[in-house]
Amino acid sequence: MENHNPFVMKYAIKTFGCQMNYSDSERVVRVMENCGFEKSEEFKTADIIIVNTCSVRQTAENKANGFIKNHKQKYIAVTGCMVRKTGDRETSKDLLLQNKAIDMVFRIEDTARIPKLLERHFPLHDFSSFTESFGNGIIENYFRIMPKTENKSQVLVPIIQGCDKFCAYCIVPYARGREVSRLLPEIFGECEKLVEQGAIEITLLGQNVNSYTYEGKRCFAELLRKIDTLSDKGLSRIRFTSAHPQDFTEELIETLATLKCICPYIHLPVQHSSDQILRAMNRNYSVDQYEEIIRKIRKVIPNCMISTDIIVGFPGESEDDFQKLCDFADRVKFDFSYTAIFSPRRGTPAAKRKDQFIDSDEKKRRFHLFDKLINSHAHLGRKAFIGKTLEVLVEKSEKREDGLYENIGRSREFLEVHFSSGRSLIGKEVMVKITKAYHYTLIGILE
Ligand code: SF4
Repeated sequence: MENHNPFVMKYAIKTFGCQMNYSDSERVVRVMENCGFEKSEEFKTADIIIVNTCSVRQTAENKANGFIKNHKQKYIAVTGCMVRKTGDRETSKDLLLQNKAIDMVFRIEDTARIPKLLERHFPLHDFSSFTESFGNGIIENYFRIMPKTENKSQVLVPIIQGCDKFCAYCIVPYARGREVSRLLPEIFGECEKLVEQGAIEITLLGQNVNSYTYEGKRCFAELLRKIDTLSDKGLSRIRFTSAHPQDFTEELIETLATLKCICPYIHLPVQHSSDQILRAMNRNYSVDQYEEIIRKIRKVIPNCMISTDIIVGFPGESEDDFQKLCDFADRVKFDFSYTAIFSPRRGTPAAKRKDQFIDSDEKKRRFHLFDKLINSHAHLGRKAFIGKTLEVLVEKSEKREDGLYENIGRSREFLEVHFSSGRSLIGKEVMVKITKAYHYTLIGILE
């Protein structure tokens, strides 16, 4: 430990993983600042470093462990999926015992208890300014902590936590636990407050957003309709991630087509297109059912961009299964795919399968072939935007040597657009005419 200023203590936070983790970190930041900690932009000047971990792949855990090791001289508090992982029978205590660099662990739903936990380690400090008005240890209470957002125009709002689907390759149900939906009025209240503070884009988060349940009823479409009413107060865009094909109902598709703020972009993970592999993955839908959903979406939202997740090289994937995957990609023409090579995740059923016969060179060959296919569809899709004008929300705006600003933003279709302007346009929605298309980026001029 070093740099003990008895009056102001500094913290820094390192987040690994998905948007859900980034959103969780915003609640942790709120609690730390309510306790009187000051944020340090650099890890070396922080008294305490909070590490919000991801368990989705072994590489993600390795990265977190590497980071912890490199900062072991600091006070390290660990939270996130590595703390919750029960699939490997690891408990918080094990984590502390196994890694001597870690000083404290807490489950994310215990965020409100951080002051109490810290009191044990920093007895000279008074953290009483933060009352535990949110209770502790219950996810519903955790969500009542208002996030401290850095980007006021684009905000993340979790609506459902955990997962009940138990896909054979995935650690999430063990790491994050069963599904728990937040109360609808509470989500709406948070969205309303964020819009009053300047949010123009809200991304609703969950492992399966369309499993969202309120008062015993699946009602994601109803939640969207309610949040869409905030367009009167300045909300312009609603996005959501991730959705599961199993609960992607007709009512939901029709709702998406009619609401003002819904962006014409849907991320719908399919994972594979061989029915046999889908069954082995425990995905609970067939490839025909998935394609039927895509047809319906494209019928009612003709300009909708669609992306997906694919796993190549799942145990038992034959050359024929892989060919089916390529034929399927040619039929659906995704605008983007987060493609991953299967790697067994300890603690999941897929890792215990005996038929892990595809060697790593063959997995890589399939991955590169598939990736090439997806890239060519993505490029063709983007080229179709040349000459069109898109509404772009600017996320980055940097001054160049020639005095102009280089802007990067996203269109409503989630397309990355680059253009220049005479002043910084960060956080603004502007119209940009597209002049050029690369595989995944568009170039344009401000209208
Ligand atoms: S739906 Fe499947 S892949 Fe997604 S979080 Fe749940 S178990 Fe994991």
